[in-house]
Amino acid sequence: MSERTIPIVDHRYASSVPPVPRQPQPLTPPLDRLHRPLHDLRISVTDRCNFRCTYCMPKEIFDKQYEFLRHADLLSFEEITRAARVFIDLGVRKIRLTGGEPLLRKHLERLVEMLHALRTPQGQSPELTLTTNGSLLARKARQLKDAGLDRVTVSLDALDDTAFRQMNDVDFPVAEVLRGIDAAIAAGLTPVKVNMVVKRGTNDQQILPMAEHFRGSGVVLRFIEYMDVGNTNGWRMDEVLPSQQVIDRIHAVHPLHPLEPHSPGETAQRWAYDDGAGEIGVISSVTRAFCADCNRARLSMEGKLYLCLFATHGYDVRALLRGDAAAGLDPVSDADLRAALAQVWSQRDDRYSLLRGTAAGQALREQRKVEMSYIGG
Ligand code: SAM
Ligand code: SF4
Ligand code: SF4
Repeated sequence: MSERTIPIVDHRYASSVPPVPRQPQPLTPPLDRLHRPLHDLRISVTDRCNFRCTYCMPKEIFDKQYEFLRHADLLSFEEITRAARVFIDLGVRKIRLTGGEPLLRKHLERLVEMLHALRTPQGQSPELTLTTNGSLLARKARQLKDAGLDRVTVSLDALDDTAFRQMNDVDFPVAEVLRGIDAAIAAGLTPVKVNMVVKRGTNDQQILPMAEHFRGSGVVLRFIEYMDVGNTNGWRMDEVLPSQQVIDRIHAVHPLHPLEPHSPGETAQRWAYDDGAGEIGVISSVTRAFCADCNRARLSMEGKLYLCLFATHGYDVRALLRGDAAAGLDPVSDADLRAALAQVWSQRDDRYSLLRGTAAGQALREQRKVEMSYIGG
């Protein structure tokens, strides 16, 4: 293995409190500077995780000395729900809970219940999903479904037990995650999606076994290109296996044809098996930028809003929700919160993946980027 340098970074990043505009804001949901609406909200509920996936929370950094956030710094369920209500008013229709490992947050089903009770202007509940490493899913799937969760995405990087234990780096067995997936299917959290991050030379030999395991099961397997998120995973371009090669490898054995996207802004390109054994997806975050349609905002566990997975700066929504005595700030009303968030979204021009190969992308890369375990996938 080649040497790599892992910069030590603090995961609590630069942020500012978004100003509340004095002028009245339009009541229609805002578009950003690239005319993109706000549709998806990813809420990270904890920065802790029981795995140490080498590409996300490498053990060398996230060790015993690492300082995770204090519970008092996390948004409460009431604060998350209040923010979500305002985001729904700004156009959000889909909420994904993530982390860290979201199922480590105590009583998460209570938050699911509270979010499920929210209503869009059309009177519907927002679509509610969760991304999890699956380790606690066998125990929690039923409760989550009963609380109003619609679907789950389970991350699983290998079917081979030895390879999987190496990737999660805490010796966690694959059988337990498969049990979680079965429990999610039994509870009706369907269609279950499985995310596999592909790292060339680490788990690319698992592409075909994974495809064959989930073919015909109703589970939608999605292959994610290994991304240069954060600063701690020692990312290198030569470890990215382009999605086209994933498709080619599977197609050579089980022929595939492309499918139309379900909706604009969808991250995965869909493919179906010619023999009717279901579909797979590829998320080509590196080789095929999908910024043009990116309609996602991310709220961290301590209430910082990020407009891009590769953002260098967050907006301190918690200071608006809770006030900040040290900064002389009082909590704001829902109307002011809406106005502040609408203005933040309307000024967004983030498009890191489109810029990755350019000088502007290089400049962004040199600035501090948030870790995946802090804002979720
Ligand atoms: N702990 C949960 C899990 O693993 O599903 C939720 C949080 S995790 C940060 C969300 C997703 O990000 C997972 O599917 C994970 O595989 C993916 N991910 C993390 N680091 C990544 C990277 N460097 N490139 C691509 N995907 C990554
Ligand atoms: Fe934990 Fe998910 Fe990151 Fe793995 S990918 S270390 S399970 S947060
Ligand atoms: Fe969206 Fe940023 Fe990813 Fe582009 S790089 S798709 S703007 S999160």
